[in-house]
Amino acid sequence: MAATDTPRTRITWDYAPAPESPDHVRLRDSYGLFIGGAFVDPRDGQRVPSINPATEEPVAEVAFGGAQDVAAAVEAARAAQPRWAALPGRERAKYVFRIARLIQERARELAIVESLDGGKPIRESRDVDIPLAAAHFFHYAGWADKLRYGVAGRETAPYGVVGQVVPWNFPLLMAAWKLAPALACGNTSVLKPAETTPLTALLLAEICQEAELPDGVVNIVPGDGTTGAAVVRSDVDKVAFTGSTAVGKDIQAALAGRGVGLTLELGGKSANVIFEDAALDQAVEGIVQGIFFNQGHVCCAGSRLLIQESVADEVTAKLWDRMRLLRVGDPLDKNTDVGAINSAEQLERIEALVEAGVEEGAVRRSVACDLPERGWWFAPTIFTEVAPAHRIAVEEIFGPVVSVLTFRTQAEAIENANNSRYGLAAGIWTDKGSKAFEVARALKAGVIWQNTYNKFDPTAAFGGYKESGFGREGGAAGLRPYLRVS
Ligand code: NDP
Repeated sequence: MAATDTPRTRITWDYAPAPESPDHVRLRDSYGLFIGGAFVDPRDGQRVPSINPATEEPVAEVAFGGAQDVAAAVEAARAAQPRWAALPGRERAKYVFRIARLIQERARELAIVESLDGGKPIRESRDVDIPLAAAHFFHYAGWADKLRYGVAGRETAPYGVVGQVVPWNFPLLMAAWKLAPALACGNTSVLKPAETTPLTALLLAEICQEAELPDGVVNIVPGDGTTGAAVVRSDVDKVAFTGSTAVGKDIQAALAGRGVGLTLELGGKSANVIFEDAALDQAVEGIVQGIFFNQGHVCCAGSRLLIQESVADEVTAKLWDRMRLLRVGDPLDKNTDVGAINSAEQLERIEALVEAGVEEGAVRRSVACDLPERGWWFAPTIFTEVAPAHRIAVEEIFGPVVSVLTFRTQAEAIENANNSRYGLAAGIWTDKGSKAFEVARALKAGVIWQNTYNKFDPTAAFGGYKESGFGREGGAAGLRPYLRVS
């Protein structure tokens, strides 16, 4: 809420509610597992409601797969794979292209379901998640008949059946990142969406049916961590995982010695570095985009804000002013900037780390806002007086919480930025191009943005170093994990 103070115009401005109506969305009451081209009942799984984190109300019921269900899905994928791989690339491309078009056609419905099921603001699911998911399918449709050009002219063959496990922060987009290159390369897939956000993956299953994708090419088996563990331990030829570093390590250990291909996209504690010569107002917008986008549930979130000491007070003051304008609340309202926290468990994790920050002596400021009574919410929060060893400077919070550290010189900025067990992303804010390139070369991070943050494009490779994982998704580099190259 903004108010003008001159007596003539003492008007209080506010936004009228602008809710996106979910009325036209036709969700089924209950979804089965998508195996062999059809929705089927679970053999040894169960049906579980998927909860709207903004209201704590069920959105729809979903079947969770057990070990036998996973085995059946792998069998269906195995049976479909030779014929799928034998199609000329241009024929596979037509299917992948059709999926992209159908996502576009159902974009509004998908955006609403993404926000209902996951809590993210409709503005983001409508303008980022869904268009980018379609763009990934378009991009890889284009690669399907040009695979050799993506690997320097060498011979290629698909891996076979791939097991893909995705998290809850970008449910449809992560499914697209996984499925689009896998299909273009001639693999078939068993995909497990996250326990809290299975619905858009199930709508994607309907889209695969509409696209007349051959049965068994895509199989979608929702479930919890046990289902994920069963997928990665099943008879697949390659595993692609996005999620926490702890589970990534568990998967790596489980696959050791099995000759199964593996790519891991794990957590991060990415540094967003603000130099004194940056356009500071623009940088503040970038900081907000870096950490409050998707409630901070972003693996590459700019959660470690490194500000040059000479401008630290100014940037922090501007950032706080900007944070106070963030609108927290109904994810379906088009004016909402920060939606609901994805689950009660994630809220607990955020609260525990924030408490640790206060106990360790950092100074916490949280925006005063009216949070809805039901649902899971966390007000945008900034920590100053943070020491590099504080848990809030080291551990991934995965929430709308930014920790500010300062530096004096470029060398110190680089040292601090690299002082992390993660290496997923970084931001550099400066008006000197040469400085940006010099710093970028010295940073150990898979993605580095200059004078912007959290910008994604299907043509650009994404992935990490160190405990942020290995393998790349996106662009030509994203073909490699799905191909055997000789
Ligand atoms: P997880 O790593 O547990 O979840 C990611 C996916 O893996 C989900 O589909 C999950 O299923 C599945 N899974 C869980 N256990 C196993 C297993 N043993 N074997 C195979 N798959 C498994 O992340 P959480 O949801 O528990 O989040 C915890 C923390 O992880 C967050 O606070 C955040 O810091 C980080 N995280 C990072 C992400 C990233 O993009 N890098 C994404 C999500 C979380 P299920 O949903 O049922 O648990």
